[in-house]
Amino acid sequence: MSFDYDLFVIGGGSGGVRAARVAAGETGAKVALAEEDRYGGTCVIRGCVPKKLMVFASEYAGMVEDAQAYGWDIQPGAFDWDVFRTKLYKELDRLEGVYRNILKNNGVETFDTRARLVDAHTVELSDGTRKSAKHILIATGGRPVKPEIKGAELGITSNEIFHLEKLPERMLIVGGGYIACEFAGIMNGMGVEVTQYYRGAQILRGFDDEARGLVSEEMCQNGIRLHLGTNVLEMEREGDRIRVKATNGDEELFDQVMFATGRVPNADDLGLEGLGVELGRKGQIVVDDYSQTAVPSIFAIGDVTDRVNLTPVAIREGMAFVDTVFRGKPTPVDHELIPTAIFTQPEMGTVGLSEEDAAAQEPVEIYATSFKPMQTAFAGRSQRVLMKLIVSKATRKVLGCHIVAPGAGEMIQLAGIAVKMGATKEDFDRTVAVHPVMAEELVTLRQPVRSA
Ligand SMILES: Cc1cc2nc3c(=O)[nH]c(=O)nc-3n(C[C@H](O)[C@H](O)[C@H](O)COP(=O)(O)OP(=O)(O)OC[C@H]3O[C@@H](n4cnc5c(N)ncnc54)[C@H](O)[C@@H]3O)c2cc1C
Repeated sequence: MSFDYDLFVIGGGSGGVRAARVAAGETGAKVALAEEDRYGGTCVIRGCVPKKLMVFASEYAGMVEDAQAYGWDIQPGAFDWDVFRTKLYKELDRLEGVYRNILKNNGVETFDTRARLVDAHTVELSDGTRKSAKHILIATGGRPVKPEIKGAELGITSNEIFHLEKLPERMLIVGGGYIACEFAGIMNGMGVEVTQYYRGAQILRGFDDEARGLVSEEMCQNGIRLHLGTNVLEMEREGDRIRVKATNGDEELFDQVMFATGRVPNADDLGLEGLGVELGRKGQIVVDDYSQTAVPSIFAIGDVTDRVNLTPVAIREGMAFVDTVFRGKPTPVDHELIPTAIFTQPEMGTVGLSEEDAAAQEPVEIYATSFKPMQTAFAGRSQRVLMKLIVSKATRKVLGCHIVAPGAGEMIQLAGIAVKMGATKEDFDRTVAVHPVMAEELVTLRQPVRSA
């Protein structure tokens, strides 16, 4: 049986672009890709990249104050959202161009349109054109959803936050996950008065309790009005503002409300019904270790499979898919011990098990220190950082490493190598400290603070 392509990829985000370009450029496969919006997907257009640039922009306010404390004669000025946004858009245009070129230069044929499946080997584009392929890779990502409450349509999501006409004076951010917390810090740093509601008892559920506790404390210290155990009851328009009634009885006016209350996989409306592709409880595409669905010719990677929703993971899954299908080297994706960073202020970097999860698994020793780092302490700031290792009593392996500190994302990338290699506490101890840096504490933690 002959097909138009060896591979048809639906979705030009992190995972789809990587799989398409490697399959075409390195294995010689005939590849096509359909993208309905902008190339680069969530990460490049409305996720990691613009968010990190906003984190950078927001951090300058504190830097000016610290510089003054160090003797610099400089005055903080106002933040100009227009100037930043214009530059941001230019950068995103440039990056989208890079992604388009990568595909073009590797011989991938692209269709700027929505695509859906018709059968196990056929894709239909929005103009009705049909294309056949030996393999179909679904890499359609996910999208934010708003809660079902009265007036929710008045709020925005992370998709719209990059396109605000002007910065609000008062903003409510709803949610306690990493996206909510990161934007609370960003907006606060840009001079917006930020209130954050989260219905749970503590933000950043699933991460180490001590680490998220410190992030929460520091966010409050920075001026974010964090209300835990609180949710939005209903919202209504009042002039230019939004009146928000909360479950704790509060009623307040905000210029902007952002919901960061959850994301769903883009697996609906793909024509999967009746094809035999299994969907999970959240609507995600169910795949095996090789990203293969129940239909042998159809694979899925990235957020649409809702495994670990991070860009480097989608990319890994794309690479493993190409190895498996086009290089004859079946490669399962390793989802263990993935280091990750949360770009709150201060940042959190984490790899492996939280103290709570590790203790539930086996007896552990906890090594931790929390202190005021030299740079900000000198400037008179009370900010604290945390360095923490979770160590197996039986094997001495470091099961988890948690850092809350400026630059924690950079630090955890490197600590992640040691943890992934199975380093023991004694391996950390054998490593000579770099002095004076915050991370030297990771190799000088002598006594456990407790057993768990
Ligand atoms: C605000 C925010 C911040 C984030 N920050 C980080 C971070 O700091 N670090 C990190 O690792 N991850 C971060 N992420 C997560 C990261 O962006 C995702 O995990 C990653 O983009 C997933 O890649 P993907 O290829 O699965 O999907 P996506 O990048 O979402 O790409 C899917 C693409 O498919 C297209 N598409 C969908 N349906 C169709 C269709 N039927 N036909 C044609 N095209 C279609 C979409 O338009 C989209 O371009 C963040 C996400 C958000 C929302």
